[in-house]
Amino acid sequence: AIDRDMSAEVVDSNPYSRLMALQRMGIVDNYERIRDYSVAIVGIGGVGSVAAEMLTRCGIGRLLLYDYDTVGMTKTDAAVQTLSGINPDVALESYSLNITTVKGFETFLGSLKARSSDGHNTGVDLVLSCVDNYEARMVVNQACNELGQTWMESGVSEDAVSGHIQLLVPGETACFACAPPLVVASGVDERTLKREGVCAASLPTTMGVVAGLLVQNALKYLLKFGQVSPYLGYNSLKDYFPTMEMKPNPQCSNPACVQRQKEYMQLKPARDAAAKAK
Ligand code: ATP
Repeated sequence: AIDRDMSAEVVDSNPYSRLMALQRMGIVDNYERIRDYSVAIVGIGGVGSVAAEMLTRCGIGRLLLYDYDTVGMTKTDAAVQTLSGINPDVALESYSLNITTVKGFETFLGSLKARSSDGHNTGVDLVLSCVDNYEARMVVNQACNELGQTWMESGVSEDAVSGHIQLLVPGETACFACAPPLVVASGVDERTLKREGVCAASLPTTMGVVAGLLVQNALKYLLKFGQVSPYLGYNSLKDYFPTMEMKPNPQCSNPACVQRQKEYMQLKPARDAAAKAK
């Protein structure tokens, strides 16, 4: 196996040839389509920055990056600098903003619909949420419900030993407000849960695994191979990976979600007929 890998390294000077091998081996029908896709990543921290790097190495067409934080320079500009060095072919857009403010939300929503500077791409194909708080997740949920935009959510637990990814298709699967986390459902203010002086744990390994699961699911969704996971959990202490599916809640508190559910049900007979005819 080592010999084969090394000879491939020598033969394949084109950085994409290893990726194109996925096509030659019959895993992906048309890998090159990756260049046509646009992905938005919200939150360029432990999970988001790793996910952005993976998509950049995979040759994604366009990446839109959102974060309000700075590391000397803005996190999104720092990411653009690093990523353009890794793969100059990716069109990178930096949005240093807080998506939970009125202005930030407008810019966020507008950018998800907007044409890229070369006028080639319209909108984005997928949104990846890599934020670390409930409020921001609810805002991503709101934007995606309004736009009927498919997105994937990710999270790492406060003790850093478990995480999850989840696929959200407005109208078809549960949205983030359909099944709120237990603490929210019980009406506790998230801010009161943050204990003063107690810092959330962070493990680059758990974040790296969750970023890998997230981007793997994104690639399967975009390039249409394998099975896209509706929900995949990761418990690092037991190496346990639970999966499940969540249907939308007809009584969801989010009006845009309820509207998307109605549209989904209206189109269901036509979809079923088309699937039967295949
Ligand atoms: P660390 O404490 O290890 O530095 P972090 O602050 O990078 O972690 P992560 O959980 O790794 O936190 O990443 C979450 C990212 O999401 C952060 O970069 C944070 O700035 C960003 N983020 C959270 N809420 C928002 C928001 N409302 N708008 C834009 N970005 C957000």
